[in-house]
Amino acid sequence: MEQNSSNFIKSIIKEDLESGKRNYVMTRFPPEPNGYLHIGHAKSIVINFGLADEFNGKTNLRFDDTNPLKEDQEYVDSIKEDVRWLGYEWDGMFFASDYFDEMYNRAVLLIKKGKAYVDDLSAEEMREYRGTLTEPGKESPYRNRTVEENLDLFERMRKGEFDNGAKVLRAKIDMSSPNLNLRDPVIYRISHATHHNTGDKWCIYPMYDFAHPLGDAIEGVTHSLCTTEFEDHRPLYNWVIQECETENKPEQTEFGRLNITNTVMSKRKLKQLVDEGFVDGWDDPRMPTLSGLRRKGYTPEAIREFVKETGVSKGSGTADAAMLEHFVREDLKLKAPRTMGILRPLKVVITNYPEDQVEWLDAEINPEVPEMGIRQIPFSREIYIEQDDFMENPPKKYFRLFPGNEVRLKHAYFIKCEEVIKDEAGNIIELRCTYDPETKSGTGFTGRKVKGTLHWVDAKHAVPAEFRLYEPLILDADTEGTELEDSEEKTFLDYVNPNSLQVIQGFIEPNMADVQAHDKFQFFRHGYFNVDPKHSTKEKSVFNLIVSLKSSFKL
Ligand code: ATP
Ligand code: MG
Repeated sequence: MEQNSSNFIKSIIKEDLESGKRNYVMTRFPPEPNGYLHIGHAKSIVINFGLADEFNGKTNLRFDDTNPLKEDQEYVDSIKEDVRWLGYEWDGMFFASDYFDEMYNRAVLLIKKGKAYVDDLSAEEMREYRGTLTEPGKESPYRNRTVEENLDLFERMRKGEFDNGAKVLRAKIDMSSPNLNLRDPVIYRISHATHHNTGDKWCIYPMYDFAHPLGDAIEGVTHSLCTTEFEDHRPLYNWVIQECETENKPEQTEFGRLNITNTVMSKRKLKQLVDEGFVDGWDDPRMPTLSGLRRKGYTPEAIREFVKETGVSKGSGTADAAMLEHFVREDLKLKAPRTMGILRPLKVVITNYPEDQVEWLDAEINPEVPEMGIRQIPFSREIYIEQDDFMENPPKKYFRLFPGNEVRLKHAYFIKCEEVIKDEAGNIIELRCTYDPETKSGTGFTGRKVKGTLHWVDAKHAVPAEFRLYEPLILDADTEGTELEDSEEKTFLDYVNPNSLQVIQGFIEPNMADVQAHDKFQFFRHGYFNVDPKHSTKEKSVFNLIVSLKSSFKL
């Protein structure tokens, strides 16, 4: 999958190849298996796999599993599924934990070189000693332990002689560096926890800033691409590569994160929405996770196109969710069969249509793609139309059905409303109409014109279906720049839209009786819908609204 436009990372890679600094390109996508992938990750995936592809390089999938408490096999499995679904296949699949032995050895090397030491300061003391942006830090009283003492203590940390938090291994860099990340960062911590991959083999775990560059170097990654929040970590990345004397010398380059309007994207927040029951799982169609978007009916093609359109730059912009929807419509326009569905049924009896007659009418499956052929839809004396396609006392310019008015039924005939039937409470329960046999669709009738065209479903043959309509999960929040920040009074949970899901029961055409999970349709006048894989049953299909037909978005 190519990325046609140029960008600054591509320029760097080109230069590295042309200057001979590199003779191959290798990237990696390095998710932490502590949650499901979201659309922000899609950007990282497209960039990493896309760039490597373009230069005939390779891309590994590497799970950054250095925090045993948060990680889980469920997440590993979902991440693999989602990367493949998005259309990418990795060259190698690894875990940072595959390299724990190697990382341990490199840490020992640092100790031997006098570049790392075991510290007994508590986390709180360490924070105090670190100083601030304007004040230099203070050196720990343990900073000048001998190499022998450090080797002994580190070995005993590994053997499990100390409790969580009792000791850490720190890189010995510079406590007065203007870059706080270089003020003797912790590179190993004690955590007596079972790891999803290494079990109970280890009770000390490398920190991200130590593990990541080493993982890159071990795999032969050339260009380590990450988001800009790691920019300040780059000097530490380079320090680790240099001091650990790795054979390969990967380099880190940062690009701006993807943010989307009205969308929270951090895994921590998404997990909270799941754990606290705001949604029914990570793959709830309202979630910005790839599994949620898939269940809603978004396609990998649309997501890739959207991500490419947002570009690769240093700055992190906020993309309009409407832009993503635009690409979904574009992708489905030619692929999705057309059909008619009634979401809020109102019965119409066509009084002059013969009681027992049924006509099977031809309808194009997709008028924009004639090769998709035709489907047949039944028409008889009783049909359903949408409740809001009728008004008893319409305003001016209302072209749908009202007493005395004539409209076209898509693929069928003109009907005229003759009588409104109400129940005792005054609710409209039925319309009596007449039809004109001369006006049959496809016969070239030109006798008179009507302004409204309604969709409908034949009542006798209609198949019950459930429709699920979605609105944004997060409302009216100021998502500028990053995303919703928690403040004292409000958290992002205060912006959760209470009406984000509407479940309604309606009817579909009989030829839709055995649709399959993930089949996608354009319901005439409503929008694109996806057959929900979780809630659909043999008896009743559930259709998720993917996106409505109208858009105000212009590229
Ligand atoms: P989150 O903050 O959502 O938990 P993360 O950065 O901690 O995300 P990782 O699993 O560590 O999640 O991310 C894997 C890769 O995806 C990283 O290289 C990260 O920079 C990238 N990534 C994560 N979120 C975005 C985003 N919104 N836009 C672009 N890249 C992203
Ligand atoms: Mg992370």
